[in-house]
Amino acid sequence: MARYTGPVCKLCRREGKKLFLKGERCYTGKCALERRAYAPGQHGQSRKKATEYGLQLRAKQQAKRYYGIQESQFYKYFVMAERKQGVTGENLLRICESRLDNVVYLLGWANSRAEARQLVTHGHYKVNGKKVNVPSYLLKAGDEVAIADKSKESEKIKATVAANEARPVPQWLDRNAEALSGKVIALPTREQIAVPVEEHLIVELYSK
Ligand code: SF4
Repeated sequence: MARYTGPVCKLCRREGKKLFLKGERCYTGKCALERRAYAPGQHGQSRKKATEYGLQLRAKQQAKRYYGIQESQFYKYFVMAERKQGVTGENLLRICESRLDNVVYLLGWANSRAEARQLVTHGHYKVNGKKVNVPSYLLKAGDEVAIADKSKESEKIKATVAANEARPVPQWLDRNAEALSGKVIALPTREQIAVPVEEHLIVELYSK
């Protein structure tokens, strides 16, 4: 599947907020947004009043970029979210959160969502005891994710797990640091989702 391969800090600067796409660096003074808090390009520093459509579009782009999801997949999630009971915007974010690559990142087994996606593709994780190499695999409450036995011996994986050990795990996930496994206790509530977007703007955009 096609994916964005350009400089990721530009995406944060375009959105004017931290999307945490670069792992550890995002939490340091080296963050590009902290050093140049304006949009990239020649007209990046000129102020423009955002239109209603502009705000809606930015909200959608922010969510897509935060999770690293392409337009067609994101729209598919919106259609799924609409069909579910409850608030469509929240359903949409809940679907994005339940992706395997996102959960791998939240469990601290990758430095960023982009790295998590790559590690999943390389078959380093199991879901309910079976190897799954599809980053968009959607997890359900009760599902158990684990690092594959062979991958537990990988120096890279061991170093990544150690580096992210102190990163807090959201309440909807239960991490077993010794067994290198994690369980989805329940899908997250909106309060447990950290994505910095107003999801109702995305729903408004797609509902036009
Ligand atoms: Fe965004 Fe991280 Fe780059 Fe900062 S360091 S601009 S948060 S990707």
